[in-house]
Amino acid sequence: MRYSQLFGKTSKTVSKDATVASHRLLLQAGFIRQLSAGRYTFLPLGLKVCRKIESIIRQEVEKTGAQELIVPTLHPLELWQQANRDKKFGAAMMRVTDRNGAEFTLGATAEVIMLDLVKQFAPSYKDLPINIYQFSQKFRDEARPSGGLLRVREFVMKDGYSFHVDEADLKITYQKYWDAYLEIAKRMDLNVTIVESDNGAIGGSVSHEFMVESTVGEDTIVTCSCGYAANLEKATFVKEDKNSSEAEADLSEVKAPRGNTMEDGVALHQKPLWQQIKDVVFVDDSGRFILAIIRGDFMVNETKLKNLIQANELRHATDEEIRNKLHSEPGFISPVGIKDVLIVADDSLKNLKNAYGGSNKKNIDLININFGRDYQTDIVGDIAETQVDYLCPQCKKEKLKLVKAVEFGNIFNIGFAYSDPMDGNFIAQDGTSQKMYMGSYGIGIGRALAIDVETHHDEKGIIWPKEIAPYQVHLIALDGLGEDLYQELLSQNIEVLFDDRSSVSAGAKFADADLIGIPIRLVISKRSQESGGIEFKLRSDKESKIIDSKNLVSEITSFYT
Ligand SMILES: [Zn+2]
Repeated sequence: MRYSQLFGKTSKTVSKDATVASHRLLLQAGFIRQLSAGRYTFLPLGLKVCRKIESIIRQEVEKTGAQELIVPTLHPLELWQQANRDKKFGAAMMRVTDRNGAEFTLGATAEVIMLDLVKQFAPSYKDLPINIYQFSQKFRDEARPSGGLLRVREFVMKDGYSFHVDEADLKITYQKYWDAYLEIAKRMDLNVTIVESDNGAIGGSVSHEFMVESTVGEDTIVTCSCGYAANLEKATFVKEDKNSSEAEADLSEVKAPRGNTMEDGVALHQKPLWQQIKDVVFVDDSGRFILAIIRGDFMVNETKLKNLIQANELRHATDEEIRNKLHSEPGFISPVGIKDVLIVADDSLKNLKNAYGGSNKKNIDLININFGRDYQTDIVGDIAETQVDYLCPQCKKEKLKLVKAVEFGNIFNIGFAYSDPMDGNFIAQDGTSQKMYMGSYGIGIGRALAIDVETHHDEKGIIWPKEIAPYQVHLIALDGLGEDLYQELLSQNIEVLFDDRSSVSAGAKFADADLIGIPIRLVISKRSQESGGIEFKLRSDKESKIIDSKNLVSEITSFYT
C-alpha cells in the first residue's frame, strides 16, 4: 500500500476526551474514528489489524472443534423473554420494533439464539457436543462508554457456544477453549491472568475471565504470589477470628448522643471498629428491602450480595424509606427487632461476640449484641469486599494484592441457565429427553486490539506485535528512491506500507512510522546506499543497521517466522 493513497492519515491533534493511551494513539495514527459515543469506525489500517486478530482467533478456536456460522443481528424479543434474559440485561439491551409491531433486541450476546437454533435439529446424544461460533456485531447500551475501544456500545465479538450431554462433557470443551484463549493471547503478545468470576447477566455458575493488567483497567483483580487469582466480585479472604471464645454478655441499651457514622460509634463506645455491626439497607429491582449486615471494619460488596439474594439490580434505600418502611433511624439501624426486611449477614458476624451498634431508635445504641441470640438472619454468606493486604484464602500465608486489569476474554460454564427455561433438550441414550448442558465463550475484537496498544506503546506511538501488525514493513523512501525495492518486496509477498510521499520531510515520515508502529522500518536513501544498502530498524529497538539489499528479504522473513 502506498501511503499517499491510503485512506485515513495520521494527525497531530487529538480530542481532549482521548485520555487513554490506546484511544489517543489509534485516533492519531489513523486506525479509528468516532461516529458517536461508544461507536467507532475502523479505518483501513485498523480493519487490517482486526482481520489479523480474527484470523488468529479463528485458527485457535477451530482447534477446539468449533465451527463458524452466523446468525442475524435482530433477535426476536420473545426468545430473550423465554430465558428471562431481557430483565438480566436490563437497560443495556437495545430494542427495535418493525413495521408490523414485532419486537426485537439488537444482539448483545447470542445464547438464546444459538440454543433455539440447535433445538431445531432435535439433537440426540450422538450429535453432542455441538460447538459453534460466530464473529458478529454486538450492541450494549453502556451508560458510560469510555476509554476509546475499551468500553463501547457497538463492537464485533467472537462468541462461541457449546452444547453437551452433561457437565463432564462440557469440561472437556471448556478446557480446550481455556487453552485456545491462552494461545490467542500469546500470539497477540499479551500476558493474561485467568480469574474466576461472577457470571453476571450471562447466567450460570462458574466462569473465568482472561485479564490483562493495565492501569486503565476498570476491573480489579485479586492475586497472590501462591497463584490465587479472582476478580473482586468473586475473591474471598481469610476472615480472622477476633473474639469468638468470649463469653456472651447481657444485651443492654445505652444512650448514644452521636453522629451517624461508624467512627462516631467507635468514639462514643471506645471499642474497636470490628466489633461494631455495619448495617446497609438496599432495595432490589422487585422492591424488596434488604438489610445487609457485616463486621464494622469490612465493606459490603454489592455484586456478592446481588448474587446471594438473586437480585438483578440494587440501590441504597433513602433515609425516608428507612424511617417510613422499616421504622428505623438512619445511622442507628440494627438487625435486632427490625421487621419487613430481608436480613443478609456476612459470615464474619457468626463468630463475633458482644458486638455493638444501633437500636433502630435515634441516639440509643445496643451493646453486647450476639448472633443467633439477639437477632435472626434470613441468609448468611460471604458479602465482604476483599481489600489489599487481606490474607489469601488459598495459601493462608501471603497478603492479597489488588491490581487494575482489562478483560480480554471470558469462558462461561452456563449449565442449564438457558436449557431449563427454553426446554433445550436432547434425546439421551436411554431414549428420554434431557436438558443440554451449555458453555459460552467470548472475545471482543476491538477491545483486544486496544489492550494490545495499551500494552505495547511508547511516547512516540504504537509498537505492534508481529502477528497483528497492519503491515510487516514500513518502507520510507527518500531522494526519489524506493520504487524498485517496493516492487521487489511485494513480489516476495511481504506486506509493505510504502511512504512514497515526495513533499514530506524525512523527519515527518519517521515520526509517522513510529506513530503507526509497524514492527520493521526500512529507509532507502542516497546515504543508506553509500553505506552499503538499506537501513533496517525494529520499532522496538533504538538502533538501526545497514543491510545489503540482497539479504533484505531473508532478514524480514526470518523476523516473521
Ligand atoms: Zn496465596
